[in-house]
Amino acid sequence: MREGHLPYAVVVKTAPPGFTPCDKLYDVGRCPHCAIASPNLNRLWADTWHTLGAEGWAAFRCNTCFGVTSVKMRFDTGGARMDSIALYPDAKEAHADIPDPARAFLQQAFQTLHAPDAAAVMAGSAVDAMLKKHGLTDGSLYARIDEALKLNLLTDGMAKWAHSVRLGSNRPRHADENRPHVSPDEAKQSVEFAEALGNFLFVLTAKIDRGIKAAETAKKSPPP
Ligand SMILES: [Zn+2]
Repeated sequence: MREGHLPYAVVVKTAPPGFTPCDKLYDVGRCPHCAIASPNLNRLWADTWHTLGAEGWAAFRCNTCFGVTSVKMRFDTGGARMDSIALYPDAKEAHADIPDPARAFLQQAFQTLHAPDAAAVMAGSAVDAMLKKHGLTDGSLYARIDEALKLNLLTDGMAKWAHSVRLGSNRPRHADENRPHVSPDEAKQSVEFAEALGNFLFVLTAKIDRGIKAAETAKKSPPP
């Protein structure tokens, strides 16, 4: 859930006496499952609240993809709203350690999962941009993937998967005559690979660098 963006439900009174969130969850930017903007999320189930400030749970279903999101909520002290504290699953966000433009492509891939062709193309662009960031700028994405394998930047399995993401992104991009479209599952797998590759090439490396620096700082400072 993004900072400053707090989905909420209006409080309704129940019988026997108590309070629950209303039938809809408002202010969710995108459905965590299908990424449609301003999703119509309908309550399936909710706890009953008895005290202001108390925390509880509710579940809401997306009207587009029928995916269920569970929400931890707090009965706000004004008594009018149930504010969400956490969403499970949460809307996906490309990690800040992934450099642009790869990060922007990955973010757009997350946000277009409801439109598989667009998501597959964005996943392909994200993979391409990640490899370019590692100095592989010559030729096509095809050549870049093979070069990355030769340099041991990718394992054999990763290179195979990268080629399948590349092929998936080519079909809608070149309006393939036989199979122009990508299925929702194919798009999801492409986006998952782009995310995994970003984690592997950038996020993990940045985490390791921070860990090494922290360990070195700890070594320099005298023991208590
Ligand atoms: Zn949805």
